[in-house]
Amino acid sequence: MAASAPYDILFQPVRIGPVTAPNRFYQVPHCTGSGALRPRILAGLREVKAEGGWGVVNTEYTSVHPSSDDLPYVAASLWDARDIRAHALMTEKVHAHGALAGVELCLGGARMANLETRVVPMSVGSLPNLAGNPLQCRAMDKGDIADVRRWHRQAALRAREAGFDIVYVYATHGYLLSQFLSPVTNRRDDEYGGRLENRVRLLREVIEDTREAVGDTTAVAVRFSAETGGGGGPDGTPVPGETEDIFGLIGELPDLWDINVADYSLEMGLSRFVPEAALSPYVRGIKAMTSKPVVSVGRFTSPDTMVAQVKSGLLDLIGAARPSIADPFLPAKIREGRLDDIRECIGCNICYTGDGKGVPIRCTQNPTMSEEWRRGWHPERIAPRRSPTSVLVVGAGPAGLEAAHQLGKRGYKVMLAEATRALGGRVTREAALPGLGQWARVRDYRLSQIAKLDNVEIYRESRLSAGDIVELGADHVAIATGATWRRDGFGAAALGGIAGLDPAAPILTPDDIMDGRLPTGRVLIYDDDHYYMGTVLAERLQAAGCRVTLATPADMISEWGGYTYDRWRAQARLMTLGVGLCTGHSLAGFDGAEASLACAYTGQSLAMAADALVLVTARAPDDALFHQLQDMGLPGNVLSRIGDCEAPGIIAAAVFAGHRYARELEDPADPDQPLKHDRVFS
Ligand code: ADP
Ligand code: SF4
Repeated sequence: MAASAPYDILFQPVRIGPVTAPNRFYQVPHCTGSGALRPRILAGLREVKAEGGWGVVNTEYTSVHPSSDDLPYVAASLWDARDIRAHALMTEKVHAHGALAGVELCLGGARMANLETRVVPMSVGSLPNLAGNPLQCRAMDKGDIADVRRWHRQAALRAREAGFDIVYVYATHGYLLSQFLSPVTNRRDDEYGGRLENRVRLLREVIEDTREAVGDTTAVAVRFSAETGGGGGPDGTPVPGETEDIFGLIGELPDLWDINVADYSLEMGLSRFVPEAALSPYVRGIKAMTSKPVVSVGRFTSPDTMVAQVKSGLLDLIGAARPSIADPFLPAKIREGRLDDIRECIGCNICYTGDGKGVPIRCTQNPTMSEEWRRGWHPERIAPRRSPTSVLVVGAGPAGLEAAHQLGKRGYKVMLAEATRALGGRVTREAALPGLGQWARVRDYRLSQIAKLDNVEIYRESRLSAGDIVELGADHVAIATGATWRRDGFGAAALGGIAGLDPAAPILTPDDIMDGRLPTGRVLIYDDDHYYMGTVLAERLQAAGCRVTLATPADMISEWGGYTYDRWRAQARLMTLGVGLCTGHSLAGFDGAEASLACAYTGQSLAMAADALVLVTARAPDDALFHQLQDMGLPGNVLSRIGDCEAPGIIAAAVFAGHRYARELEDPADPDQPLKHDRVFS
């Protein structure tokens, strides 16, 4: 189908050296938690992006040799012939949809510890390991440099054999080549150190090696930070350092420049802190330094923003990781003029947690991510119902909305009952908190889709009792009633609750704050949840004029937020706002005037004056309705519970639960083998 006119420009082909991208939609390399460990899951998720119209689909960072081993962070690898077979799974599928396949070859340097392979890590000097391991690298000698060049070249040849059309030289994010480039890390006094020409030498050689090995048929891309000045400027104020000089030396060598910034918390910034197109100030000017095409990212979900990026001469290709994860069919939807069908990324970075945890990537907005191969789920298609039965979904939070949407797509007659006037459950409530506005996209996408279905009826302000539900007589009932924040301090650090809480004292929960019941004066927020809620509430209450202290039994603020990149920016923001921070202390009691805390190590008590306490600890599932219906004899093949009312968790888990319920209604998964188990080739 033809592109709708305003977006025609996005569907123009772009020549990249010896290959041509069929359009400007370019899925940049992004980690998936699958890499070398789960090649079929990886091939499945890359395939749907090509099917959905991405003209270029890259795989993740790919180790060239056992001396670049990043486990437990799961990279792909191109060490030998078996790796070639694994990657060919992906390239064949990507090519079948007319897209180009790319691979980001990676030399680890001081960022990789080689914990699996036990090879001594090597870098430009004897640098400490930059992933926090207690070890240093060996400073590379000339023999090491020759080895590394040969390993990269061999991997490039394997990449071509695997069917890749674009091979990357990866010169950013603190890996080996950027360590050679940087005057901070490169203190060598040989021809690879000192003046710029010397620091660029290894990058130049690796680009030339790659071109010589595969460049006749395969494009050579360089991923490079626009901020060679060490970063660290406030957002939007680049410190370009030697960028222009580096382009003067090698700007015409590769076929494509993939531009980013070294600061991950900006490059893949959370919507809480970083807006769409945030890299524009950094990328501006790059095209004037090279005649080669330029790609960069910016959490682009708006086609108008994409067009503006191209028309203003910033970018030739619209790079995306997260928008392609949240909606693999984003290009196809733009091409077909179906803009209101776009499932926009919410900028929560749950997708990034797969990397830190070493598990397959998941997405809040797209519950099918990583399930394409192992569960056979497709982001746009779902099997029709097997029988003309009806389903009642109780609760319109993310679980209920996703279930109703997908059940509706399957053709069921669906009733969605919601107690309140507002739809969206927790996402609507949380979206009103500072920085979380884009959470509402989880609701809005599903409501816009449900509105197109005649067979889904939504009943607002309909708090159903167990009797109501039985009376309605639906063939299937899904309880999605959510969860409520606890007021007793129960949490991972206090499994018996907190005994010293005076029930008469002003003790609030996140639900109170979201309902508009705000404390005044000195407020202690106690965070035994460790994700975003504690820091978001601290920001909210400080802005409301409270004097907030955030205390946590963990050693750091927003500890789990380290997996999403919440942690650093949240802590910086709270420090800037003047919020007091207290780590490593668990709460023992609160009497309305003073909180008592205990050191997590010594038990030594600490008294803290406070007028109110906000407990961010754990949530209680709202499962009373489910149990009443069970007691009334509704059988298991009629009654289910999904989402937070089954097990409180992240929004992504509630969406997944709703999706899974809809998929498996009348098509139950085999309980003995609920999903295919991926294994590497033997
Ligand atoms: P989840 O994350 O699992 O989707 P939420 O807490 O976001 O859960 O949403 C649960 C929704 O269920 C809320 O909007 C709540 O108002 C609604 N709800 C709770 N009890 C009932 C009930 N008895 N009848 C209808 N809706 C209910
Ligand atoms: Fe976007 Fe969140 Fe999905 Fe990542 S997990 S792609 S940030 S919606």
